[in-house]
Amino acid sequence: MRDFTFQGLASRVIFGRGTISLIKREAEALGCKRLLVVSTSQQTADADRTKNLLGELHVATFDGAAMHTPTDVTLNALKLVRDWSVDGVIAIGGGSSIGLSKAIALHTDLPQLVVPTTYAGSEMTPILGQTEDGVKTTQRTLRVLPETVIYDVDMTLTLPPVMSVASGINAMAHAVEALYAVDTNPVVSLMAETGIASLYKSLPKLKERPHDIDARTEALYGSWLCAICLASTSMGLHHKLCHTLGGTLNLPHAETHTAILPHALAYNASAVREAVDVISRALDGGDVSGRIYDVASRSGATVALKDLGMTEADIDVAVAAVMSKPYANPRPLDASMIKRLIANAWAGVRPDQSTYAPA
Ligand code: NAD
Repeated sequence: MRDFTFQGLASRVIFGRGTISLIKREAEALGCKRLLVVSTSQQTADADRTKNLLGELHVATFDGAAMHTPTDVTLNALKLVRDWSVDGVIAIGGGSSIGLSKAIALHTDLPQLVVPTTYAGSEMTPILGQTEDGVKTTQRTLRVLPETVIYDVDMTLTLPPVMSVASGINAMAHAVEALYAVDTNPVVSLMAETGIASLYKSLPKLKERPHDIDARTEALYGSWLCAICLASTSMGLHHKLCHTLGGTLNLPHAETHTAILPHALAYNASAVREAVDVISRALDGGDVSGRIYDVASRSGATVALKDLGMTEADIDVAVAAVMSKPYANPRPLDASMIKRLIANAWAGVRPDQSTYAPA
C-alpha cells in the first residue's frame, strides 16, 4: 500500500425514510431561528412541505434556484436573507438548490441544512461552481460545506426514472475519477467501489419500478458514498469536460455526465489499470466503459450530446476550451484524441477500451 493522506470533512448525516420530519429538530440543533428555504420552481411543493415542518422557524422561501448557480440568482436570494434577517438556509432539491444555498453561505457564512433529492452529490462537498456571463468558475472552500445533510429516501421517489439514471451516473463519475485521482487513498477506494456497485445494481430497477424502496435506498446510499469521493479527492478529464460543456454551452448537468463518462473512462483506461480492476469488480466484470454506457442507454437516458442541444460546430469550441487550461489527468491530453472523444460522445457511440487505445 502506498503512503496516503485522508482528510475527513465534518458534516452531520442522517439517512433513512421519512427523515425530513426531523428537519425542525436539526435546524434547532444548529441554533437557527429564522430560516430561508431554497428550491427550484419545479419543487415548490417540497419547499412548502419543508416550510410547514419548520413552523415558526420559517421566515422566507426562494424558489428561483437554477442550474450552474448563476450569480444574479444568488444576488436575488441574498436580498431575502438581508430583508428577513435569516440565520440559516435550508436547501431542498438537487445540485441546483444546494448550489444556491452554498453560494449564500459563501457570502454570509450562514449554516446550511440540506435535503438532497437527486444523486448529484453536492451536499457532501466543499465545492461551489458559479456561472457569470456564460463562464463557470469553481472554488473549494469549507465555508460552503453544508453543516447537516438529511437523506430521505422518500424525497427521491418523485425523481423521474430517466433523470434518476442520469443523476446516478453523475454520482458514479465522482467515484470513477476518485479511484485514479492523484490524491486517492484506500478509504476512498472502498467507498468508490461500494458506491459504483450500489448504483449499478439499483439504477436499472428504477427504470421499471421508480417507487422500489430498496432500489431507491441503495441508489441514495451509493450516491452518498460517491459524493464523499468527490469531496475527498481531485477529479480528472471527465469532470473537466463536463464542467466546460456545462458552463460554456449551458448543457444539462447529469445528462452531460452520462454522455461523457463512458468515453472519458475509455480514454483513461490504459493509464489506470488498478482503478479499472476496482470498477470492473463493482460492475460484475466486463468492459467498464461499455457497461456504463449500456446501463444508461438501456434505461432510456440520453447518451448523445447532440440530443442535449450541442451542435456539431460546438465540438471544436469544446476541444479548444478543454485544451486551453492544463488539468491533472492520469493520461496526458492529446488534442486529436480529445476531439475524437467529444465527437463520439456527441454522436452517442458506444465506446470500449480499444476506442482510445494509444497508438
Ligand atoms: P437539479 O438540481 O438542477 O435538478 C434537476 C431538476 O429536477 C430540477 O428541476 C429539480 O427541481 C428537479 N428535481 C430534483 N429532485 C427532484 C425530485 N426528487 N423529484 C422531482 N423533481 C426533482 O440537477 P442536479 O443534477 O441534481 O444538479 C445539477 C447542479 O448541481 C449543477 O449546477 C452542478 O454544477 C451542481 N453540482 C455541484 C456539485 C458540487 O460539488 N459543487 C456536485 C454535483 C452537482
